[in-house]
Amino acid sequence: MAFKLDSKIPAGELAQKWSNHKAAIKVVSPANKRKLDIIVVGTGLGGASAAASLGELGYNVKVFCIQDSPRRAHSIAAQGGINAAKNYRNDNDSIYRLFYDTIKGGDYRAREANVYRMAEVSNCIIDQCVGQGVPFAREYGGMLDNRSFGGAQVSRTFYARGQTGQQLLLGAYAALNKEIAAGSVKSYPRHEMLDIVIEDGEARGIIARNLVTGELERFGAHAVVIASGGYGNVFFLSTNAMASNGSAAFQCYRKGAGFANPCFTQIHPTCIPVHGDQQSKLTLMSESLRNDGRIWVPKKIEDVKALRSGAKKPSDIAEEDRDYYLERR
Ligand SMILES: Cc1cc2nc3c(=O)[nH]c(=O)nc-3n(C[C@H](O)[C@H](O)[C@H](O)COP(=O)(O)OP(=O)(O)OC[C@H]3O[C@@H](n4cnc5c(N)ncnc54)[C@H](O)[C@@H]3O)c2cc1C
Repeated sequence: MAFKLDSKIPAGELAQKWSNHKAAIKVVSPANKRKLDIIVVGTGLGGASAAASLGELGYNVKVFCIQDSPRRAHSIAAQGGINAAKNYRNDNDSIYRLFYDTIKGGDYRAREANVYRMAEVSNCIIDQCVGQGVPFAREYGGMLDNRSFGGAQVSRTFYARGQTGQQLLLGAYAALNKEIAAGSVKSYPRHEMLDIVIEDGEARGIIARNLVTGELERFGAHAVVIASGGYGNVFFLSTNAMASNGSAAFQCYRKGAGFANPCFTQIHPTCIPVHGDQQSKLTLMSESLRNDGRIWVPKKIEDVKALRSGAKKPSDIAEEDRDYYLERR
């Protein structure tokens, strides 16, 4: 039987599709929300923010991750930054321009309505992150800084040094912990989803292995959110965390979910197998080094003491006496 692709994008004009849908959708009353259970698999930027938001809305949420703490998801690896159409630089940015650039950057393969919605809510996402305490870079006057990133013609990237993903996840993790403490979210770290339970064509639960005891455990819910991230470890060489193994996505695929666009896998130059002496594309200059200078400590203990006592300034230490320890080979 041919696979029927239904992305369930609402009807209407591109710019209004999701706004109209949100305005017309049936809502659940606060009294009923707490009777509904939702499972979220994954605690990266996708899963942690979904679980925290659903918990805050009043649903009963169970959130699962492989790692010993939700905040160890691979989202922490993201360096460059997060785009929003705030137009702070007055360089003619707009929701439409962010939408257009994203469609183009996605090789015209992304779903237009969903990308438009992403561009539309991008400004609120930055506001929410700031509200959660994410320390985005600021200009000296205190305003949020923006840089042009990934070849964009406008400056719309919000960033936190070279550790934007880490800082964003700390924000999402704090929001998640608030809900865990309030009792609306129950956290299951060290649990790997092994199977998804389908009833009448709808996802109603998961089977997970408790990675501490080895026991198989089952969990039921009214809905299941899969936010299990990428699958870099299916390749022989990968810089991804070991939990980026595709195990949850594969189980959904086995139960009938579609799998699309493996061509969207991002390749890191260090993972291209060596095949010759003249090959140069095996290193990637770290984004943190590119934008925020380099980190060094004095090589000699005398210099350390001199700096501590104030007898020398950092600028007095000669280049050859500096240890750029992050760049050691
Ligand atoms: C080096 C690097 C730099 C990047 N830079 C940028 C950037 O500058 N800007 C940008 O927008 N994006 C960037 N990205 C991409 C972006 O960071 C990721 O797409 C995003 O963070 C993924 O979030 P996620 O929540 O989907 O997945 P993840 O953060 O990978 O989280 C997946 C979660 O699912 C859990 N999980 C997986 N399988 C199972 C299972 N079977 N059972 C239970 N739990 C499971 C894991 O434990 C984890 O908690 C970068 C990515 C990398 C690697």
